Amino acid sequence: MVPLTRTAAAVADIALTVFAPRGCAACDAPVRPRVAFCPPCARSVVRGDDRSRAPFSFGGAIARAVRRLKYDKRSEVGGVLGALVASELVAVAPRVDVVVPVPLHPRRLAERGFNQSALVARPLAWMLGAPLKTAGLVRLRDTLPQAGLGRVERGANVAGAFAATGAWQGVRVLLVDDVVTTGATLAACAAALEERGANVTRIAVARAEPG
Ligand SMILES: [Zn+2]
Repeated sequence: MVPLTRTAAAVADIALTVFAPRGCAACDAPVRPRVAFCPPCARSVVRGDDRSRAPFSFGGAIARAVRRLKYDKRSEVGGVLGALVASELVAVAPRVDVVVPVPLHPRRLAERGFNQSALVARPLAWMLGAPLKTAGLVRLRDTLPQAGLGRVERGANVAGAFAATGAWQGVRVLLVDDVVTTGATLAACAAALEERGANVTRIAVARAEPG
């Protein structure tokens, strides 16, 4: 881990300016400039136990923001969440060569119109000064949603579902997902990159309890 020169406060400030929210990311209430959540929502944000892997717990305003991003197609919320993660990670982020989001299957991508993990990854790439490679991984088959599956089923659901494209030998990758539960999706993606020689660090916005 190499500390970066940009301070956490400066990164949060700039990132939230660049990826500016139009209102509270969880409820649309008016917010002051460069603030992600209104005061009541901000009070419901819980930091995760492992901030270098998932800075937040999946609950409260973080969960509402993620659901709005994924299911209400509020794409601008992705940049806000990414900026929050960037500000949490700035002091502990590893040096990486490239940032890669967990890919959606093309059919799901067409339905949603965007890859939420890619939107979250963009501020992280900006903070780290590394390119965002959205085509670094491809989803070979359309898997079932992980929600509602048990730990074993989740692993089986995504095993072998991803492939890395291009040359990866010795490349340091920051792999980005929106929510991590058992870690099966991130593990399957990391395996595809590591198979080709990449060195992978995994990160998600929030950690959810399986259930
Ligand atoms: Zn709010």
